[in-house]
Amino acid sequence: MAECPNLTGCPFFNDRMANMPAIAQLYKRRYCLGQGEGKESCARWIVAQKLGKEYVPPDLFPNQLERAQQILQQAQNPK
Ligand code: SF4
Repeated sequence: MAECPNLTGCPFFNDRMANMPAIAQLYKRRYCLGQGEGKESCARWIVAQKLGKEYVPPDLFPNQLERAQQILQQAQNPK
């Protein structure tokens, strides 16, 4: 897996999110640096790719895939 192209601009990778989880460094290796699932499994990456960066909530963490799916569903079926 390759590094995420968003490393420089990503608030998560650059510790600019509130309430960073204790295992943030593990997530960075796993998702951002591609030493695990890679960016394709990152909730922030998925929402940004499908909808655009402006749709990524400021408090969305890479492991919150379920929340990412909800965001995508809401965008596809607005009420
Ligand atoms: S959190 Fe996701 S979007 Fe941000 S750098 Fe890591 S893999 Fe890329």
